[in-house]
Amino acid sequence: MLTKILIANRGEIAVRIVRACAEMNIRSVAIYTEPDRHALHVKRADEAHSVGEDPLAGYLDPRRLVNLAVETGCDAIHPGYGFLSENSELARICDERGITFIGPSAYVIAKMGDKTQARDSMIKAGVPVTPGSDGNLADLDEALSVASEIGYPVMLKATSGGGGRGIRRCDSAEELRSQYPRVISEATKAFGSAEVFLEKCIVDPRHIEVQVLADREGNAIHLYERDCSIQRRNQKLIEIAPSPQLTPEQRQYVGELAVRAAKAVGYENAGTVEFLVTGNEVYFMEMNTRVQVEHTITEQITGVDIVREQIRIAAGLPLTYRQEDISYRGYALQFRINAEDPKNNFLPSFGRITRYYAPGGPGVRTDTAIYTGYTIPPFYDSMCLKLVVWALNWEDALDRGARALADMRVQGVKTTASYYQAILQNPDFRSGEFNTGFVPSHPELLNYSDKRDPSEVALAIAAAIAAYAGL
Ligand code: ADP
Ligand code: ADP
Ligand code: MG
Repeated sequence: MLTKILIANRGEIAVRIVRACAEMNIRSVAIYTEPDRHALHVKRADEAHSVGEDPLAGYLDPRRLVNLAVETGCDAIHPGYGFLSENSELARICDERGITFIGPSAYVIAKMGDKTQARDSMIKAGVPVTPGSDGNLADLDEALSVASEIGYPVMLKATSGGGGRGIRRCDSAEELRSQYPRVISEATKAFGSAEVFLEKCIVDPRHIEVQVLADREGNAIHLYERDCSIQRRNQKLIEIAPSPQLTPEQRQYVGELAVRAAKAVGYENAGTVEFLVTGNEVYFMEMNTRVQVEHTITEQITGVDIVREQIRIAAGLPLTYRQEDISYRGYALQFRINAEDPKNNFLPSFGRITRYYAPGGPGVRTDTAIYTGYTIPPFYDSMCLKLVVWALNWEDALDRGARALADMRVQGVKTTASYYQAILQNPDFRSGEFNTGFVPSHPELLNYSDKRDPSEVALAIAAAIAAYAGL
């Protein structure tokens, strides 16, 4: 077994990994850059080491992190999500230096991180993909001719993209002409690669993804699916497991497709295969070769500790479970609580958390790195907390979500929590029938009135006292 793990990440996912290590009697080493000196992951790990003044550079330097792992006597690195988690260099340098990388091989990371290579592999494995360009586009002319062949609307996508960026829908040749240089420039800036490709835009699809686990011996299983259709600008807001909108046959089909995909590329460790589903059609979209932000809801419905499995697999142990050992129970929802103002175009709202009160009670889980008095630095993701609820049936899960959101207090910054309350009251959402068009087609939900806004409550109390005192 591994004995000491360097966590090449920050924030809530670093805390999540520290927790898994603690339960497995593995020592954990945190890293931090200067703005993160007082971050929770630094306090919770067994050891913490500075990786420099710059807010980001230290988190993004594979060689430096592997050196630190060697110097601190670690035998492994867990990359979390984001940052270097899909950087094949980190996996390669780990190999060279005898450090275990907790994830798939450098080869598989590079292959699946390239969306056109991933599509190719899937076509070869007999997994359906959306109609699209044969590899990367050479130039705008090729883009226009492929688009007219497959028909508009099309999606223009950055080959190395991620996190919902570098994707544009184009409804006409004119739009494609204007978006083409924009996506290339965004891709170059954000991902350091100008490669782009085209695929058919599936109108109002559901985003269904399957969690897989695979060990070194070639065993692969799935832990059922998550429905991540509630998105804004291709970024997930609320995730649900299992999907309330799949038939048992569809559930079995996507599960099997995901296992086939993982086996076809010689996958090892935890991964997620993302699909677009419309009616009875299922299309492979991409594979994420890391732990996913929303792994929590799969843990809640299956009882499997995914981070623990990642560590066991990396240590060379066989899977703890066979497919027939995996079952799921009830529904789980995850709300990504972002420090953003939904009423102001989701503008980031960084700053000091003057008060944080964690929701609790039955079926409630919070994964976060915030605490009262913590200042959210402006350099990183605005997601500051993941609120996860579980209940035996769909309606109860929705009601529990509303209750837990109401229980929670995050004061000092604006958050997306009250917007989620509005979504939870919406009949389309409650009916369990929604697609990726839900957020844009319900702009009225942004006009919710935040009854629990502390300033409003304080004003109401002040008014009541004034009235009582006859002032
Ligand atoms: P998930 O895929 O786990 O649902 P996201 O897509 O929200 O989660 O990505 C998780 C984090 O990783 C975000 O901070 C996102 O910005 C970052 N990220 C994902 N893919 C990439 C990538 N290819 N390059 C840079 N950052 C990425
Ligand atoms: P990322 O790597 O940023 O997660 P994805 O390829 O997973 O990018 O796409 C992110 C989201 O964009 C999807 O969940 C979906 O909502 C939308 N999307 C991507 N491709 C298509 C498509 N061909 N048709 C319709 N929507 C798409
Ligand atoms: Mg994706």
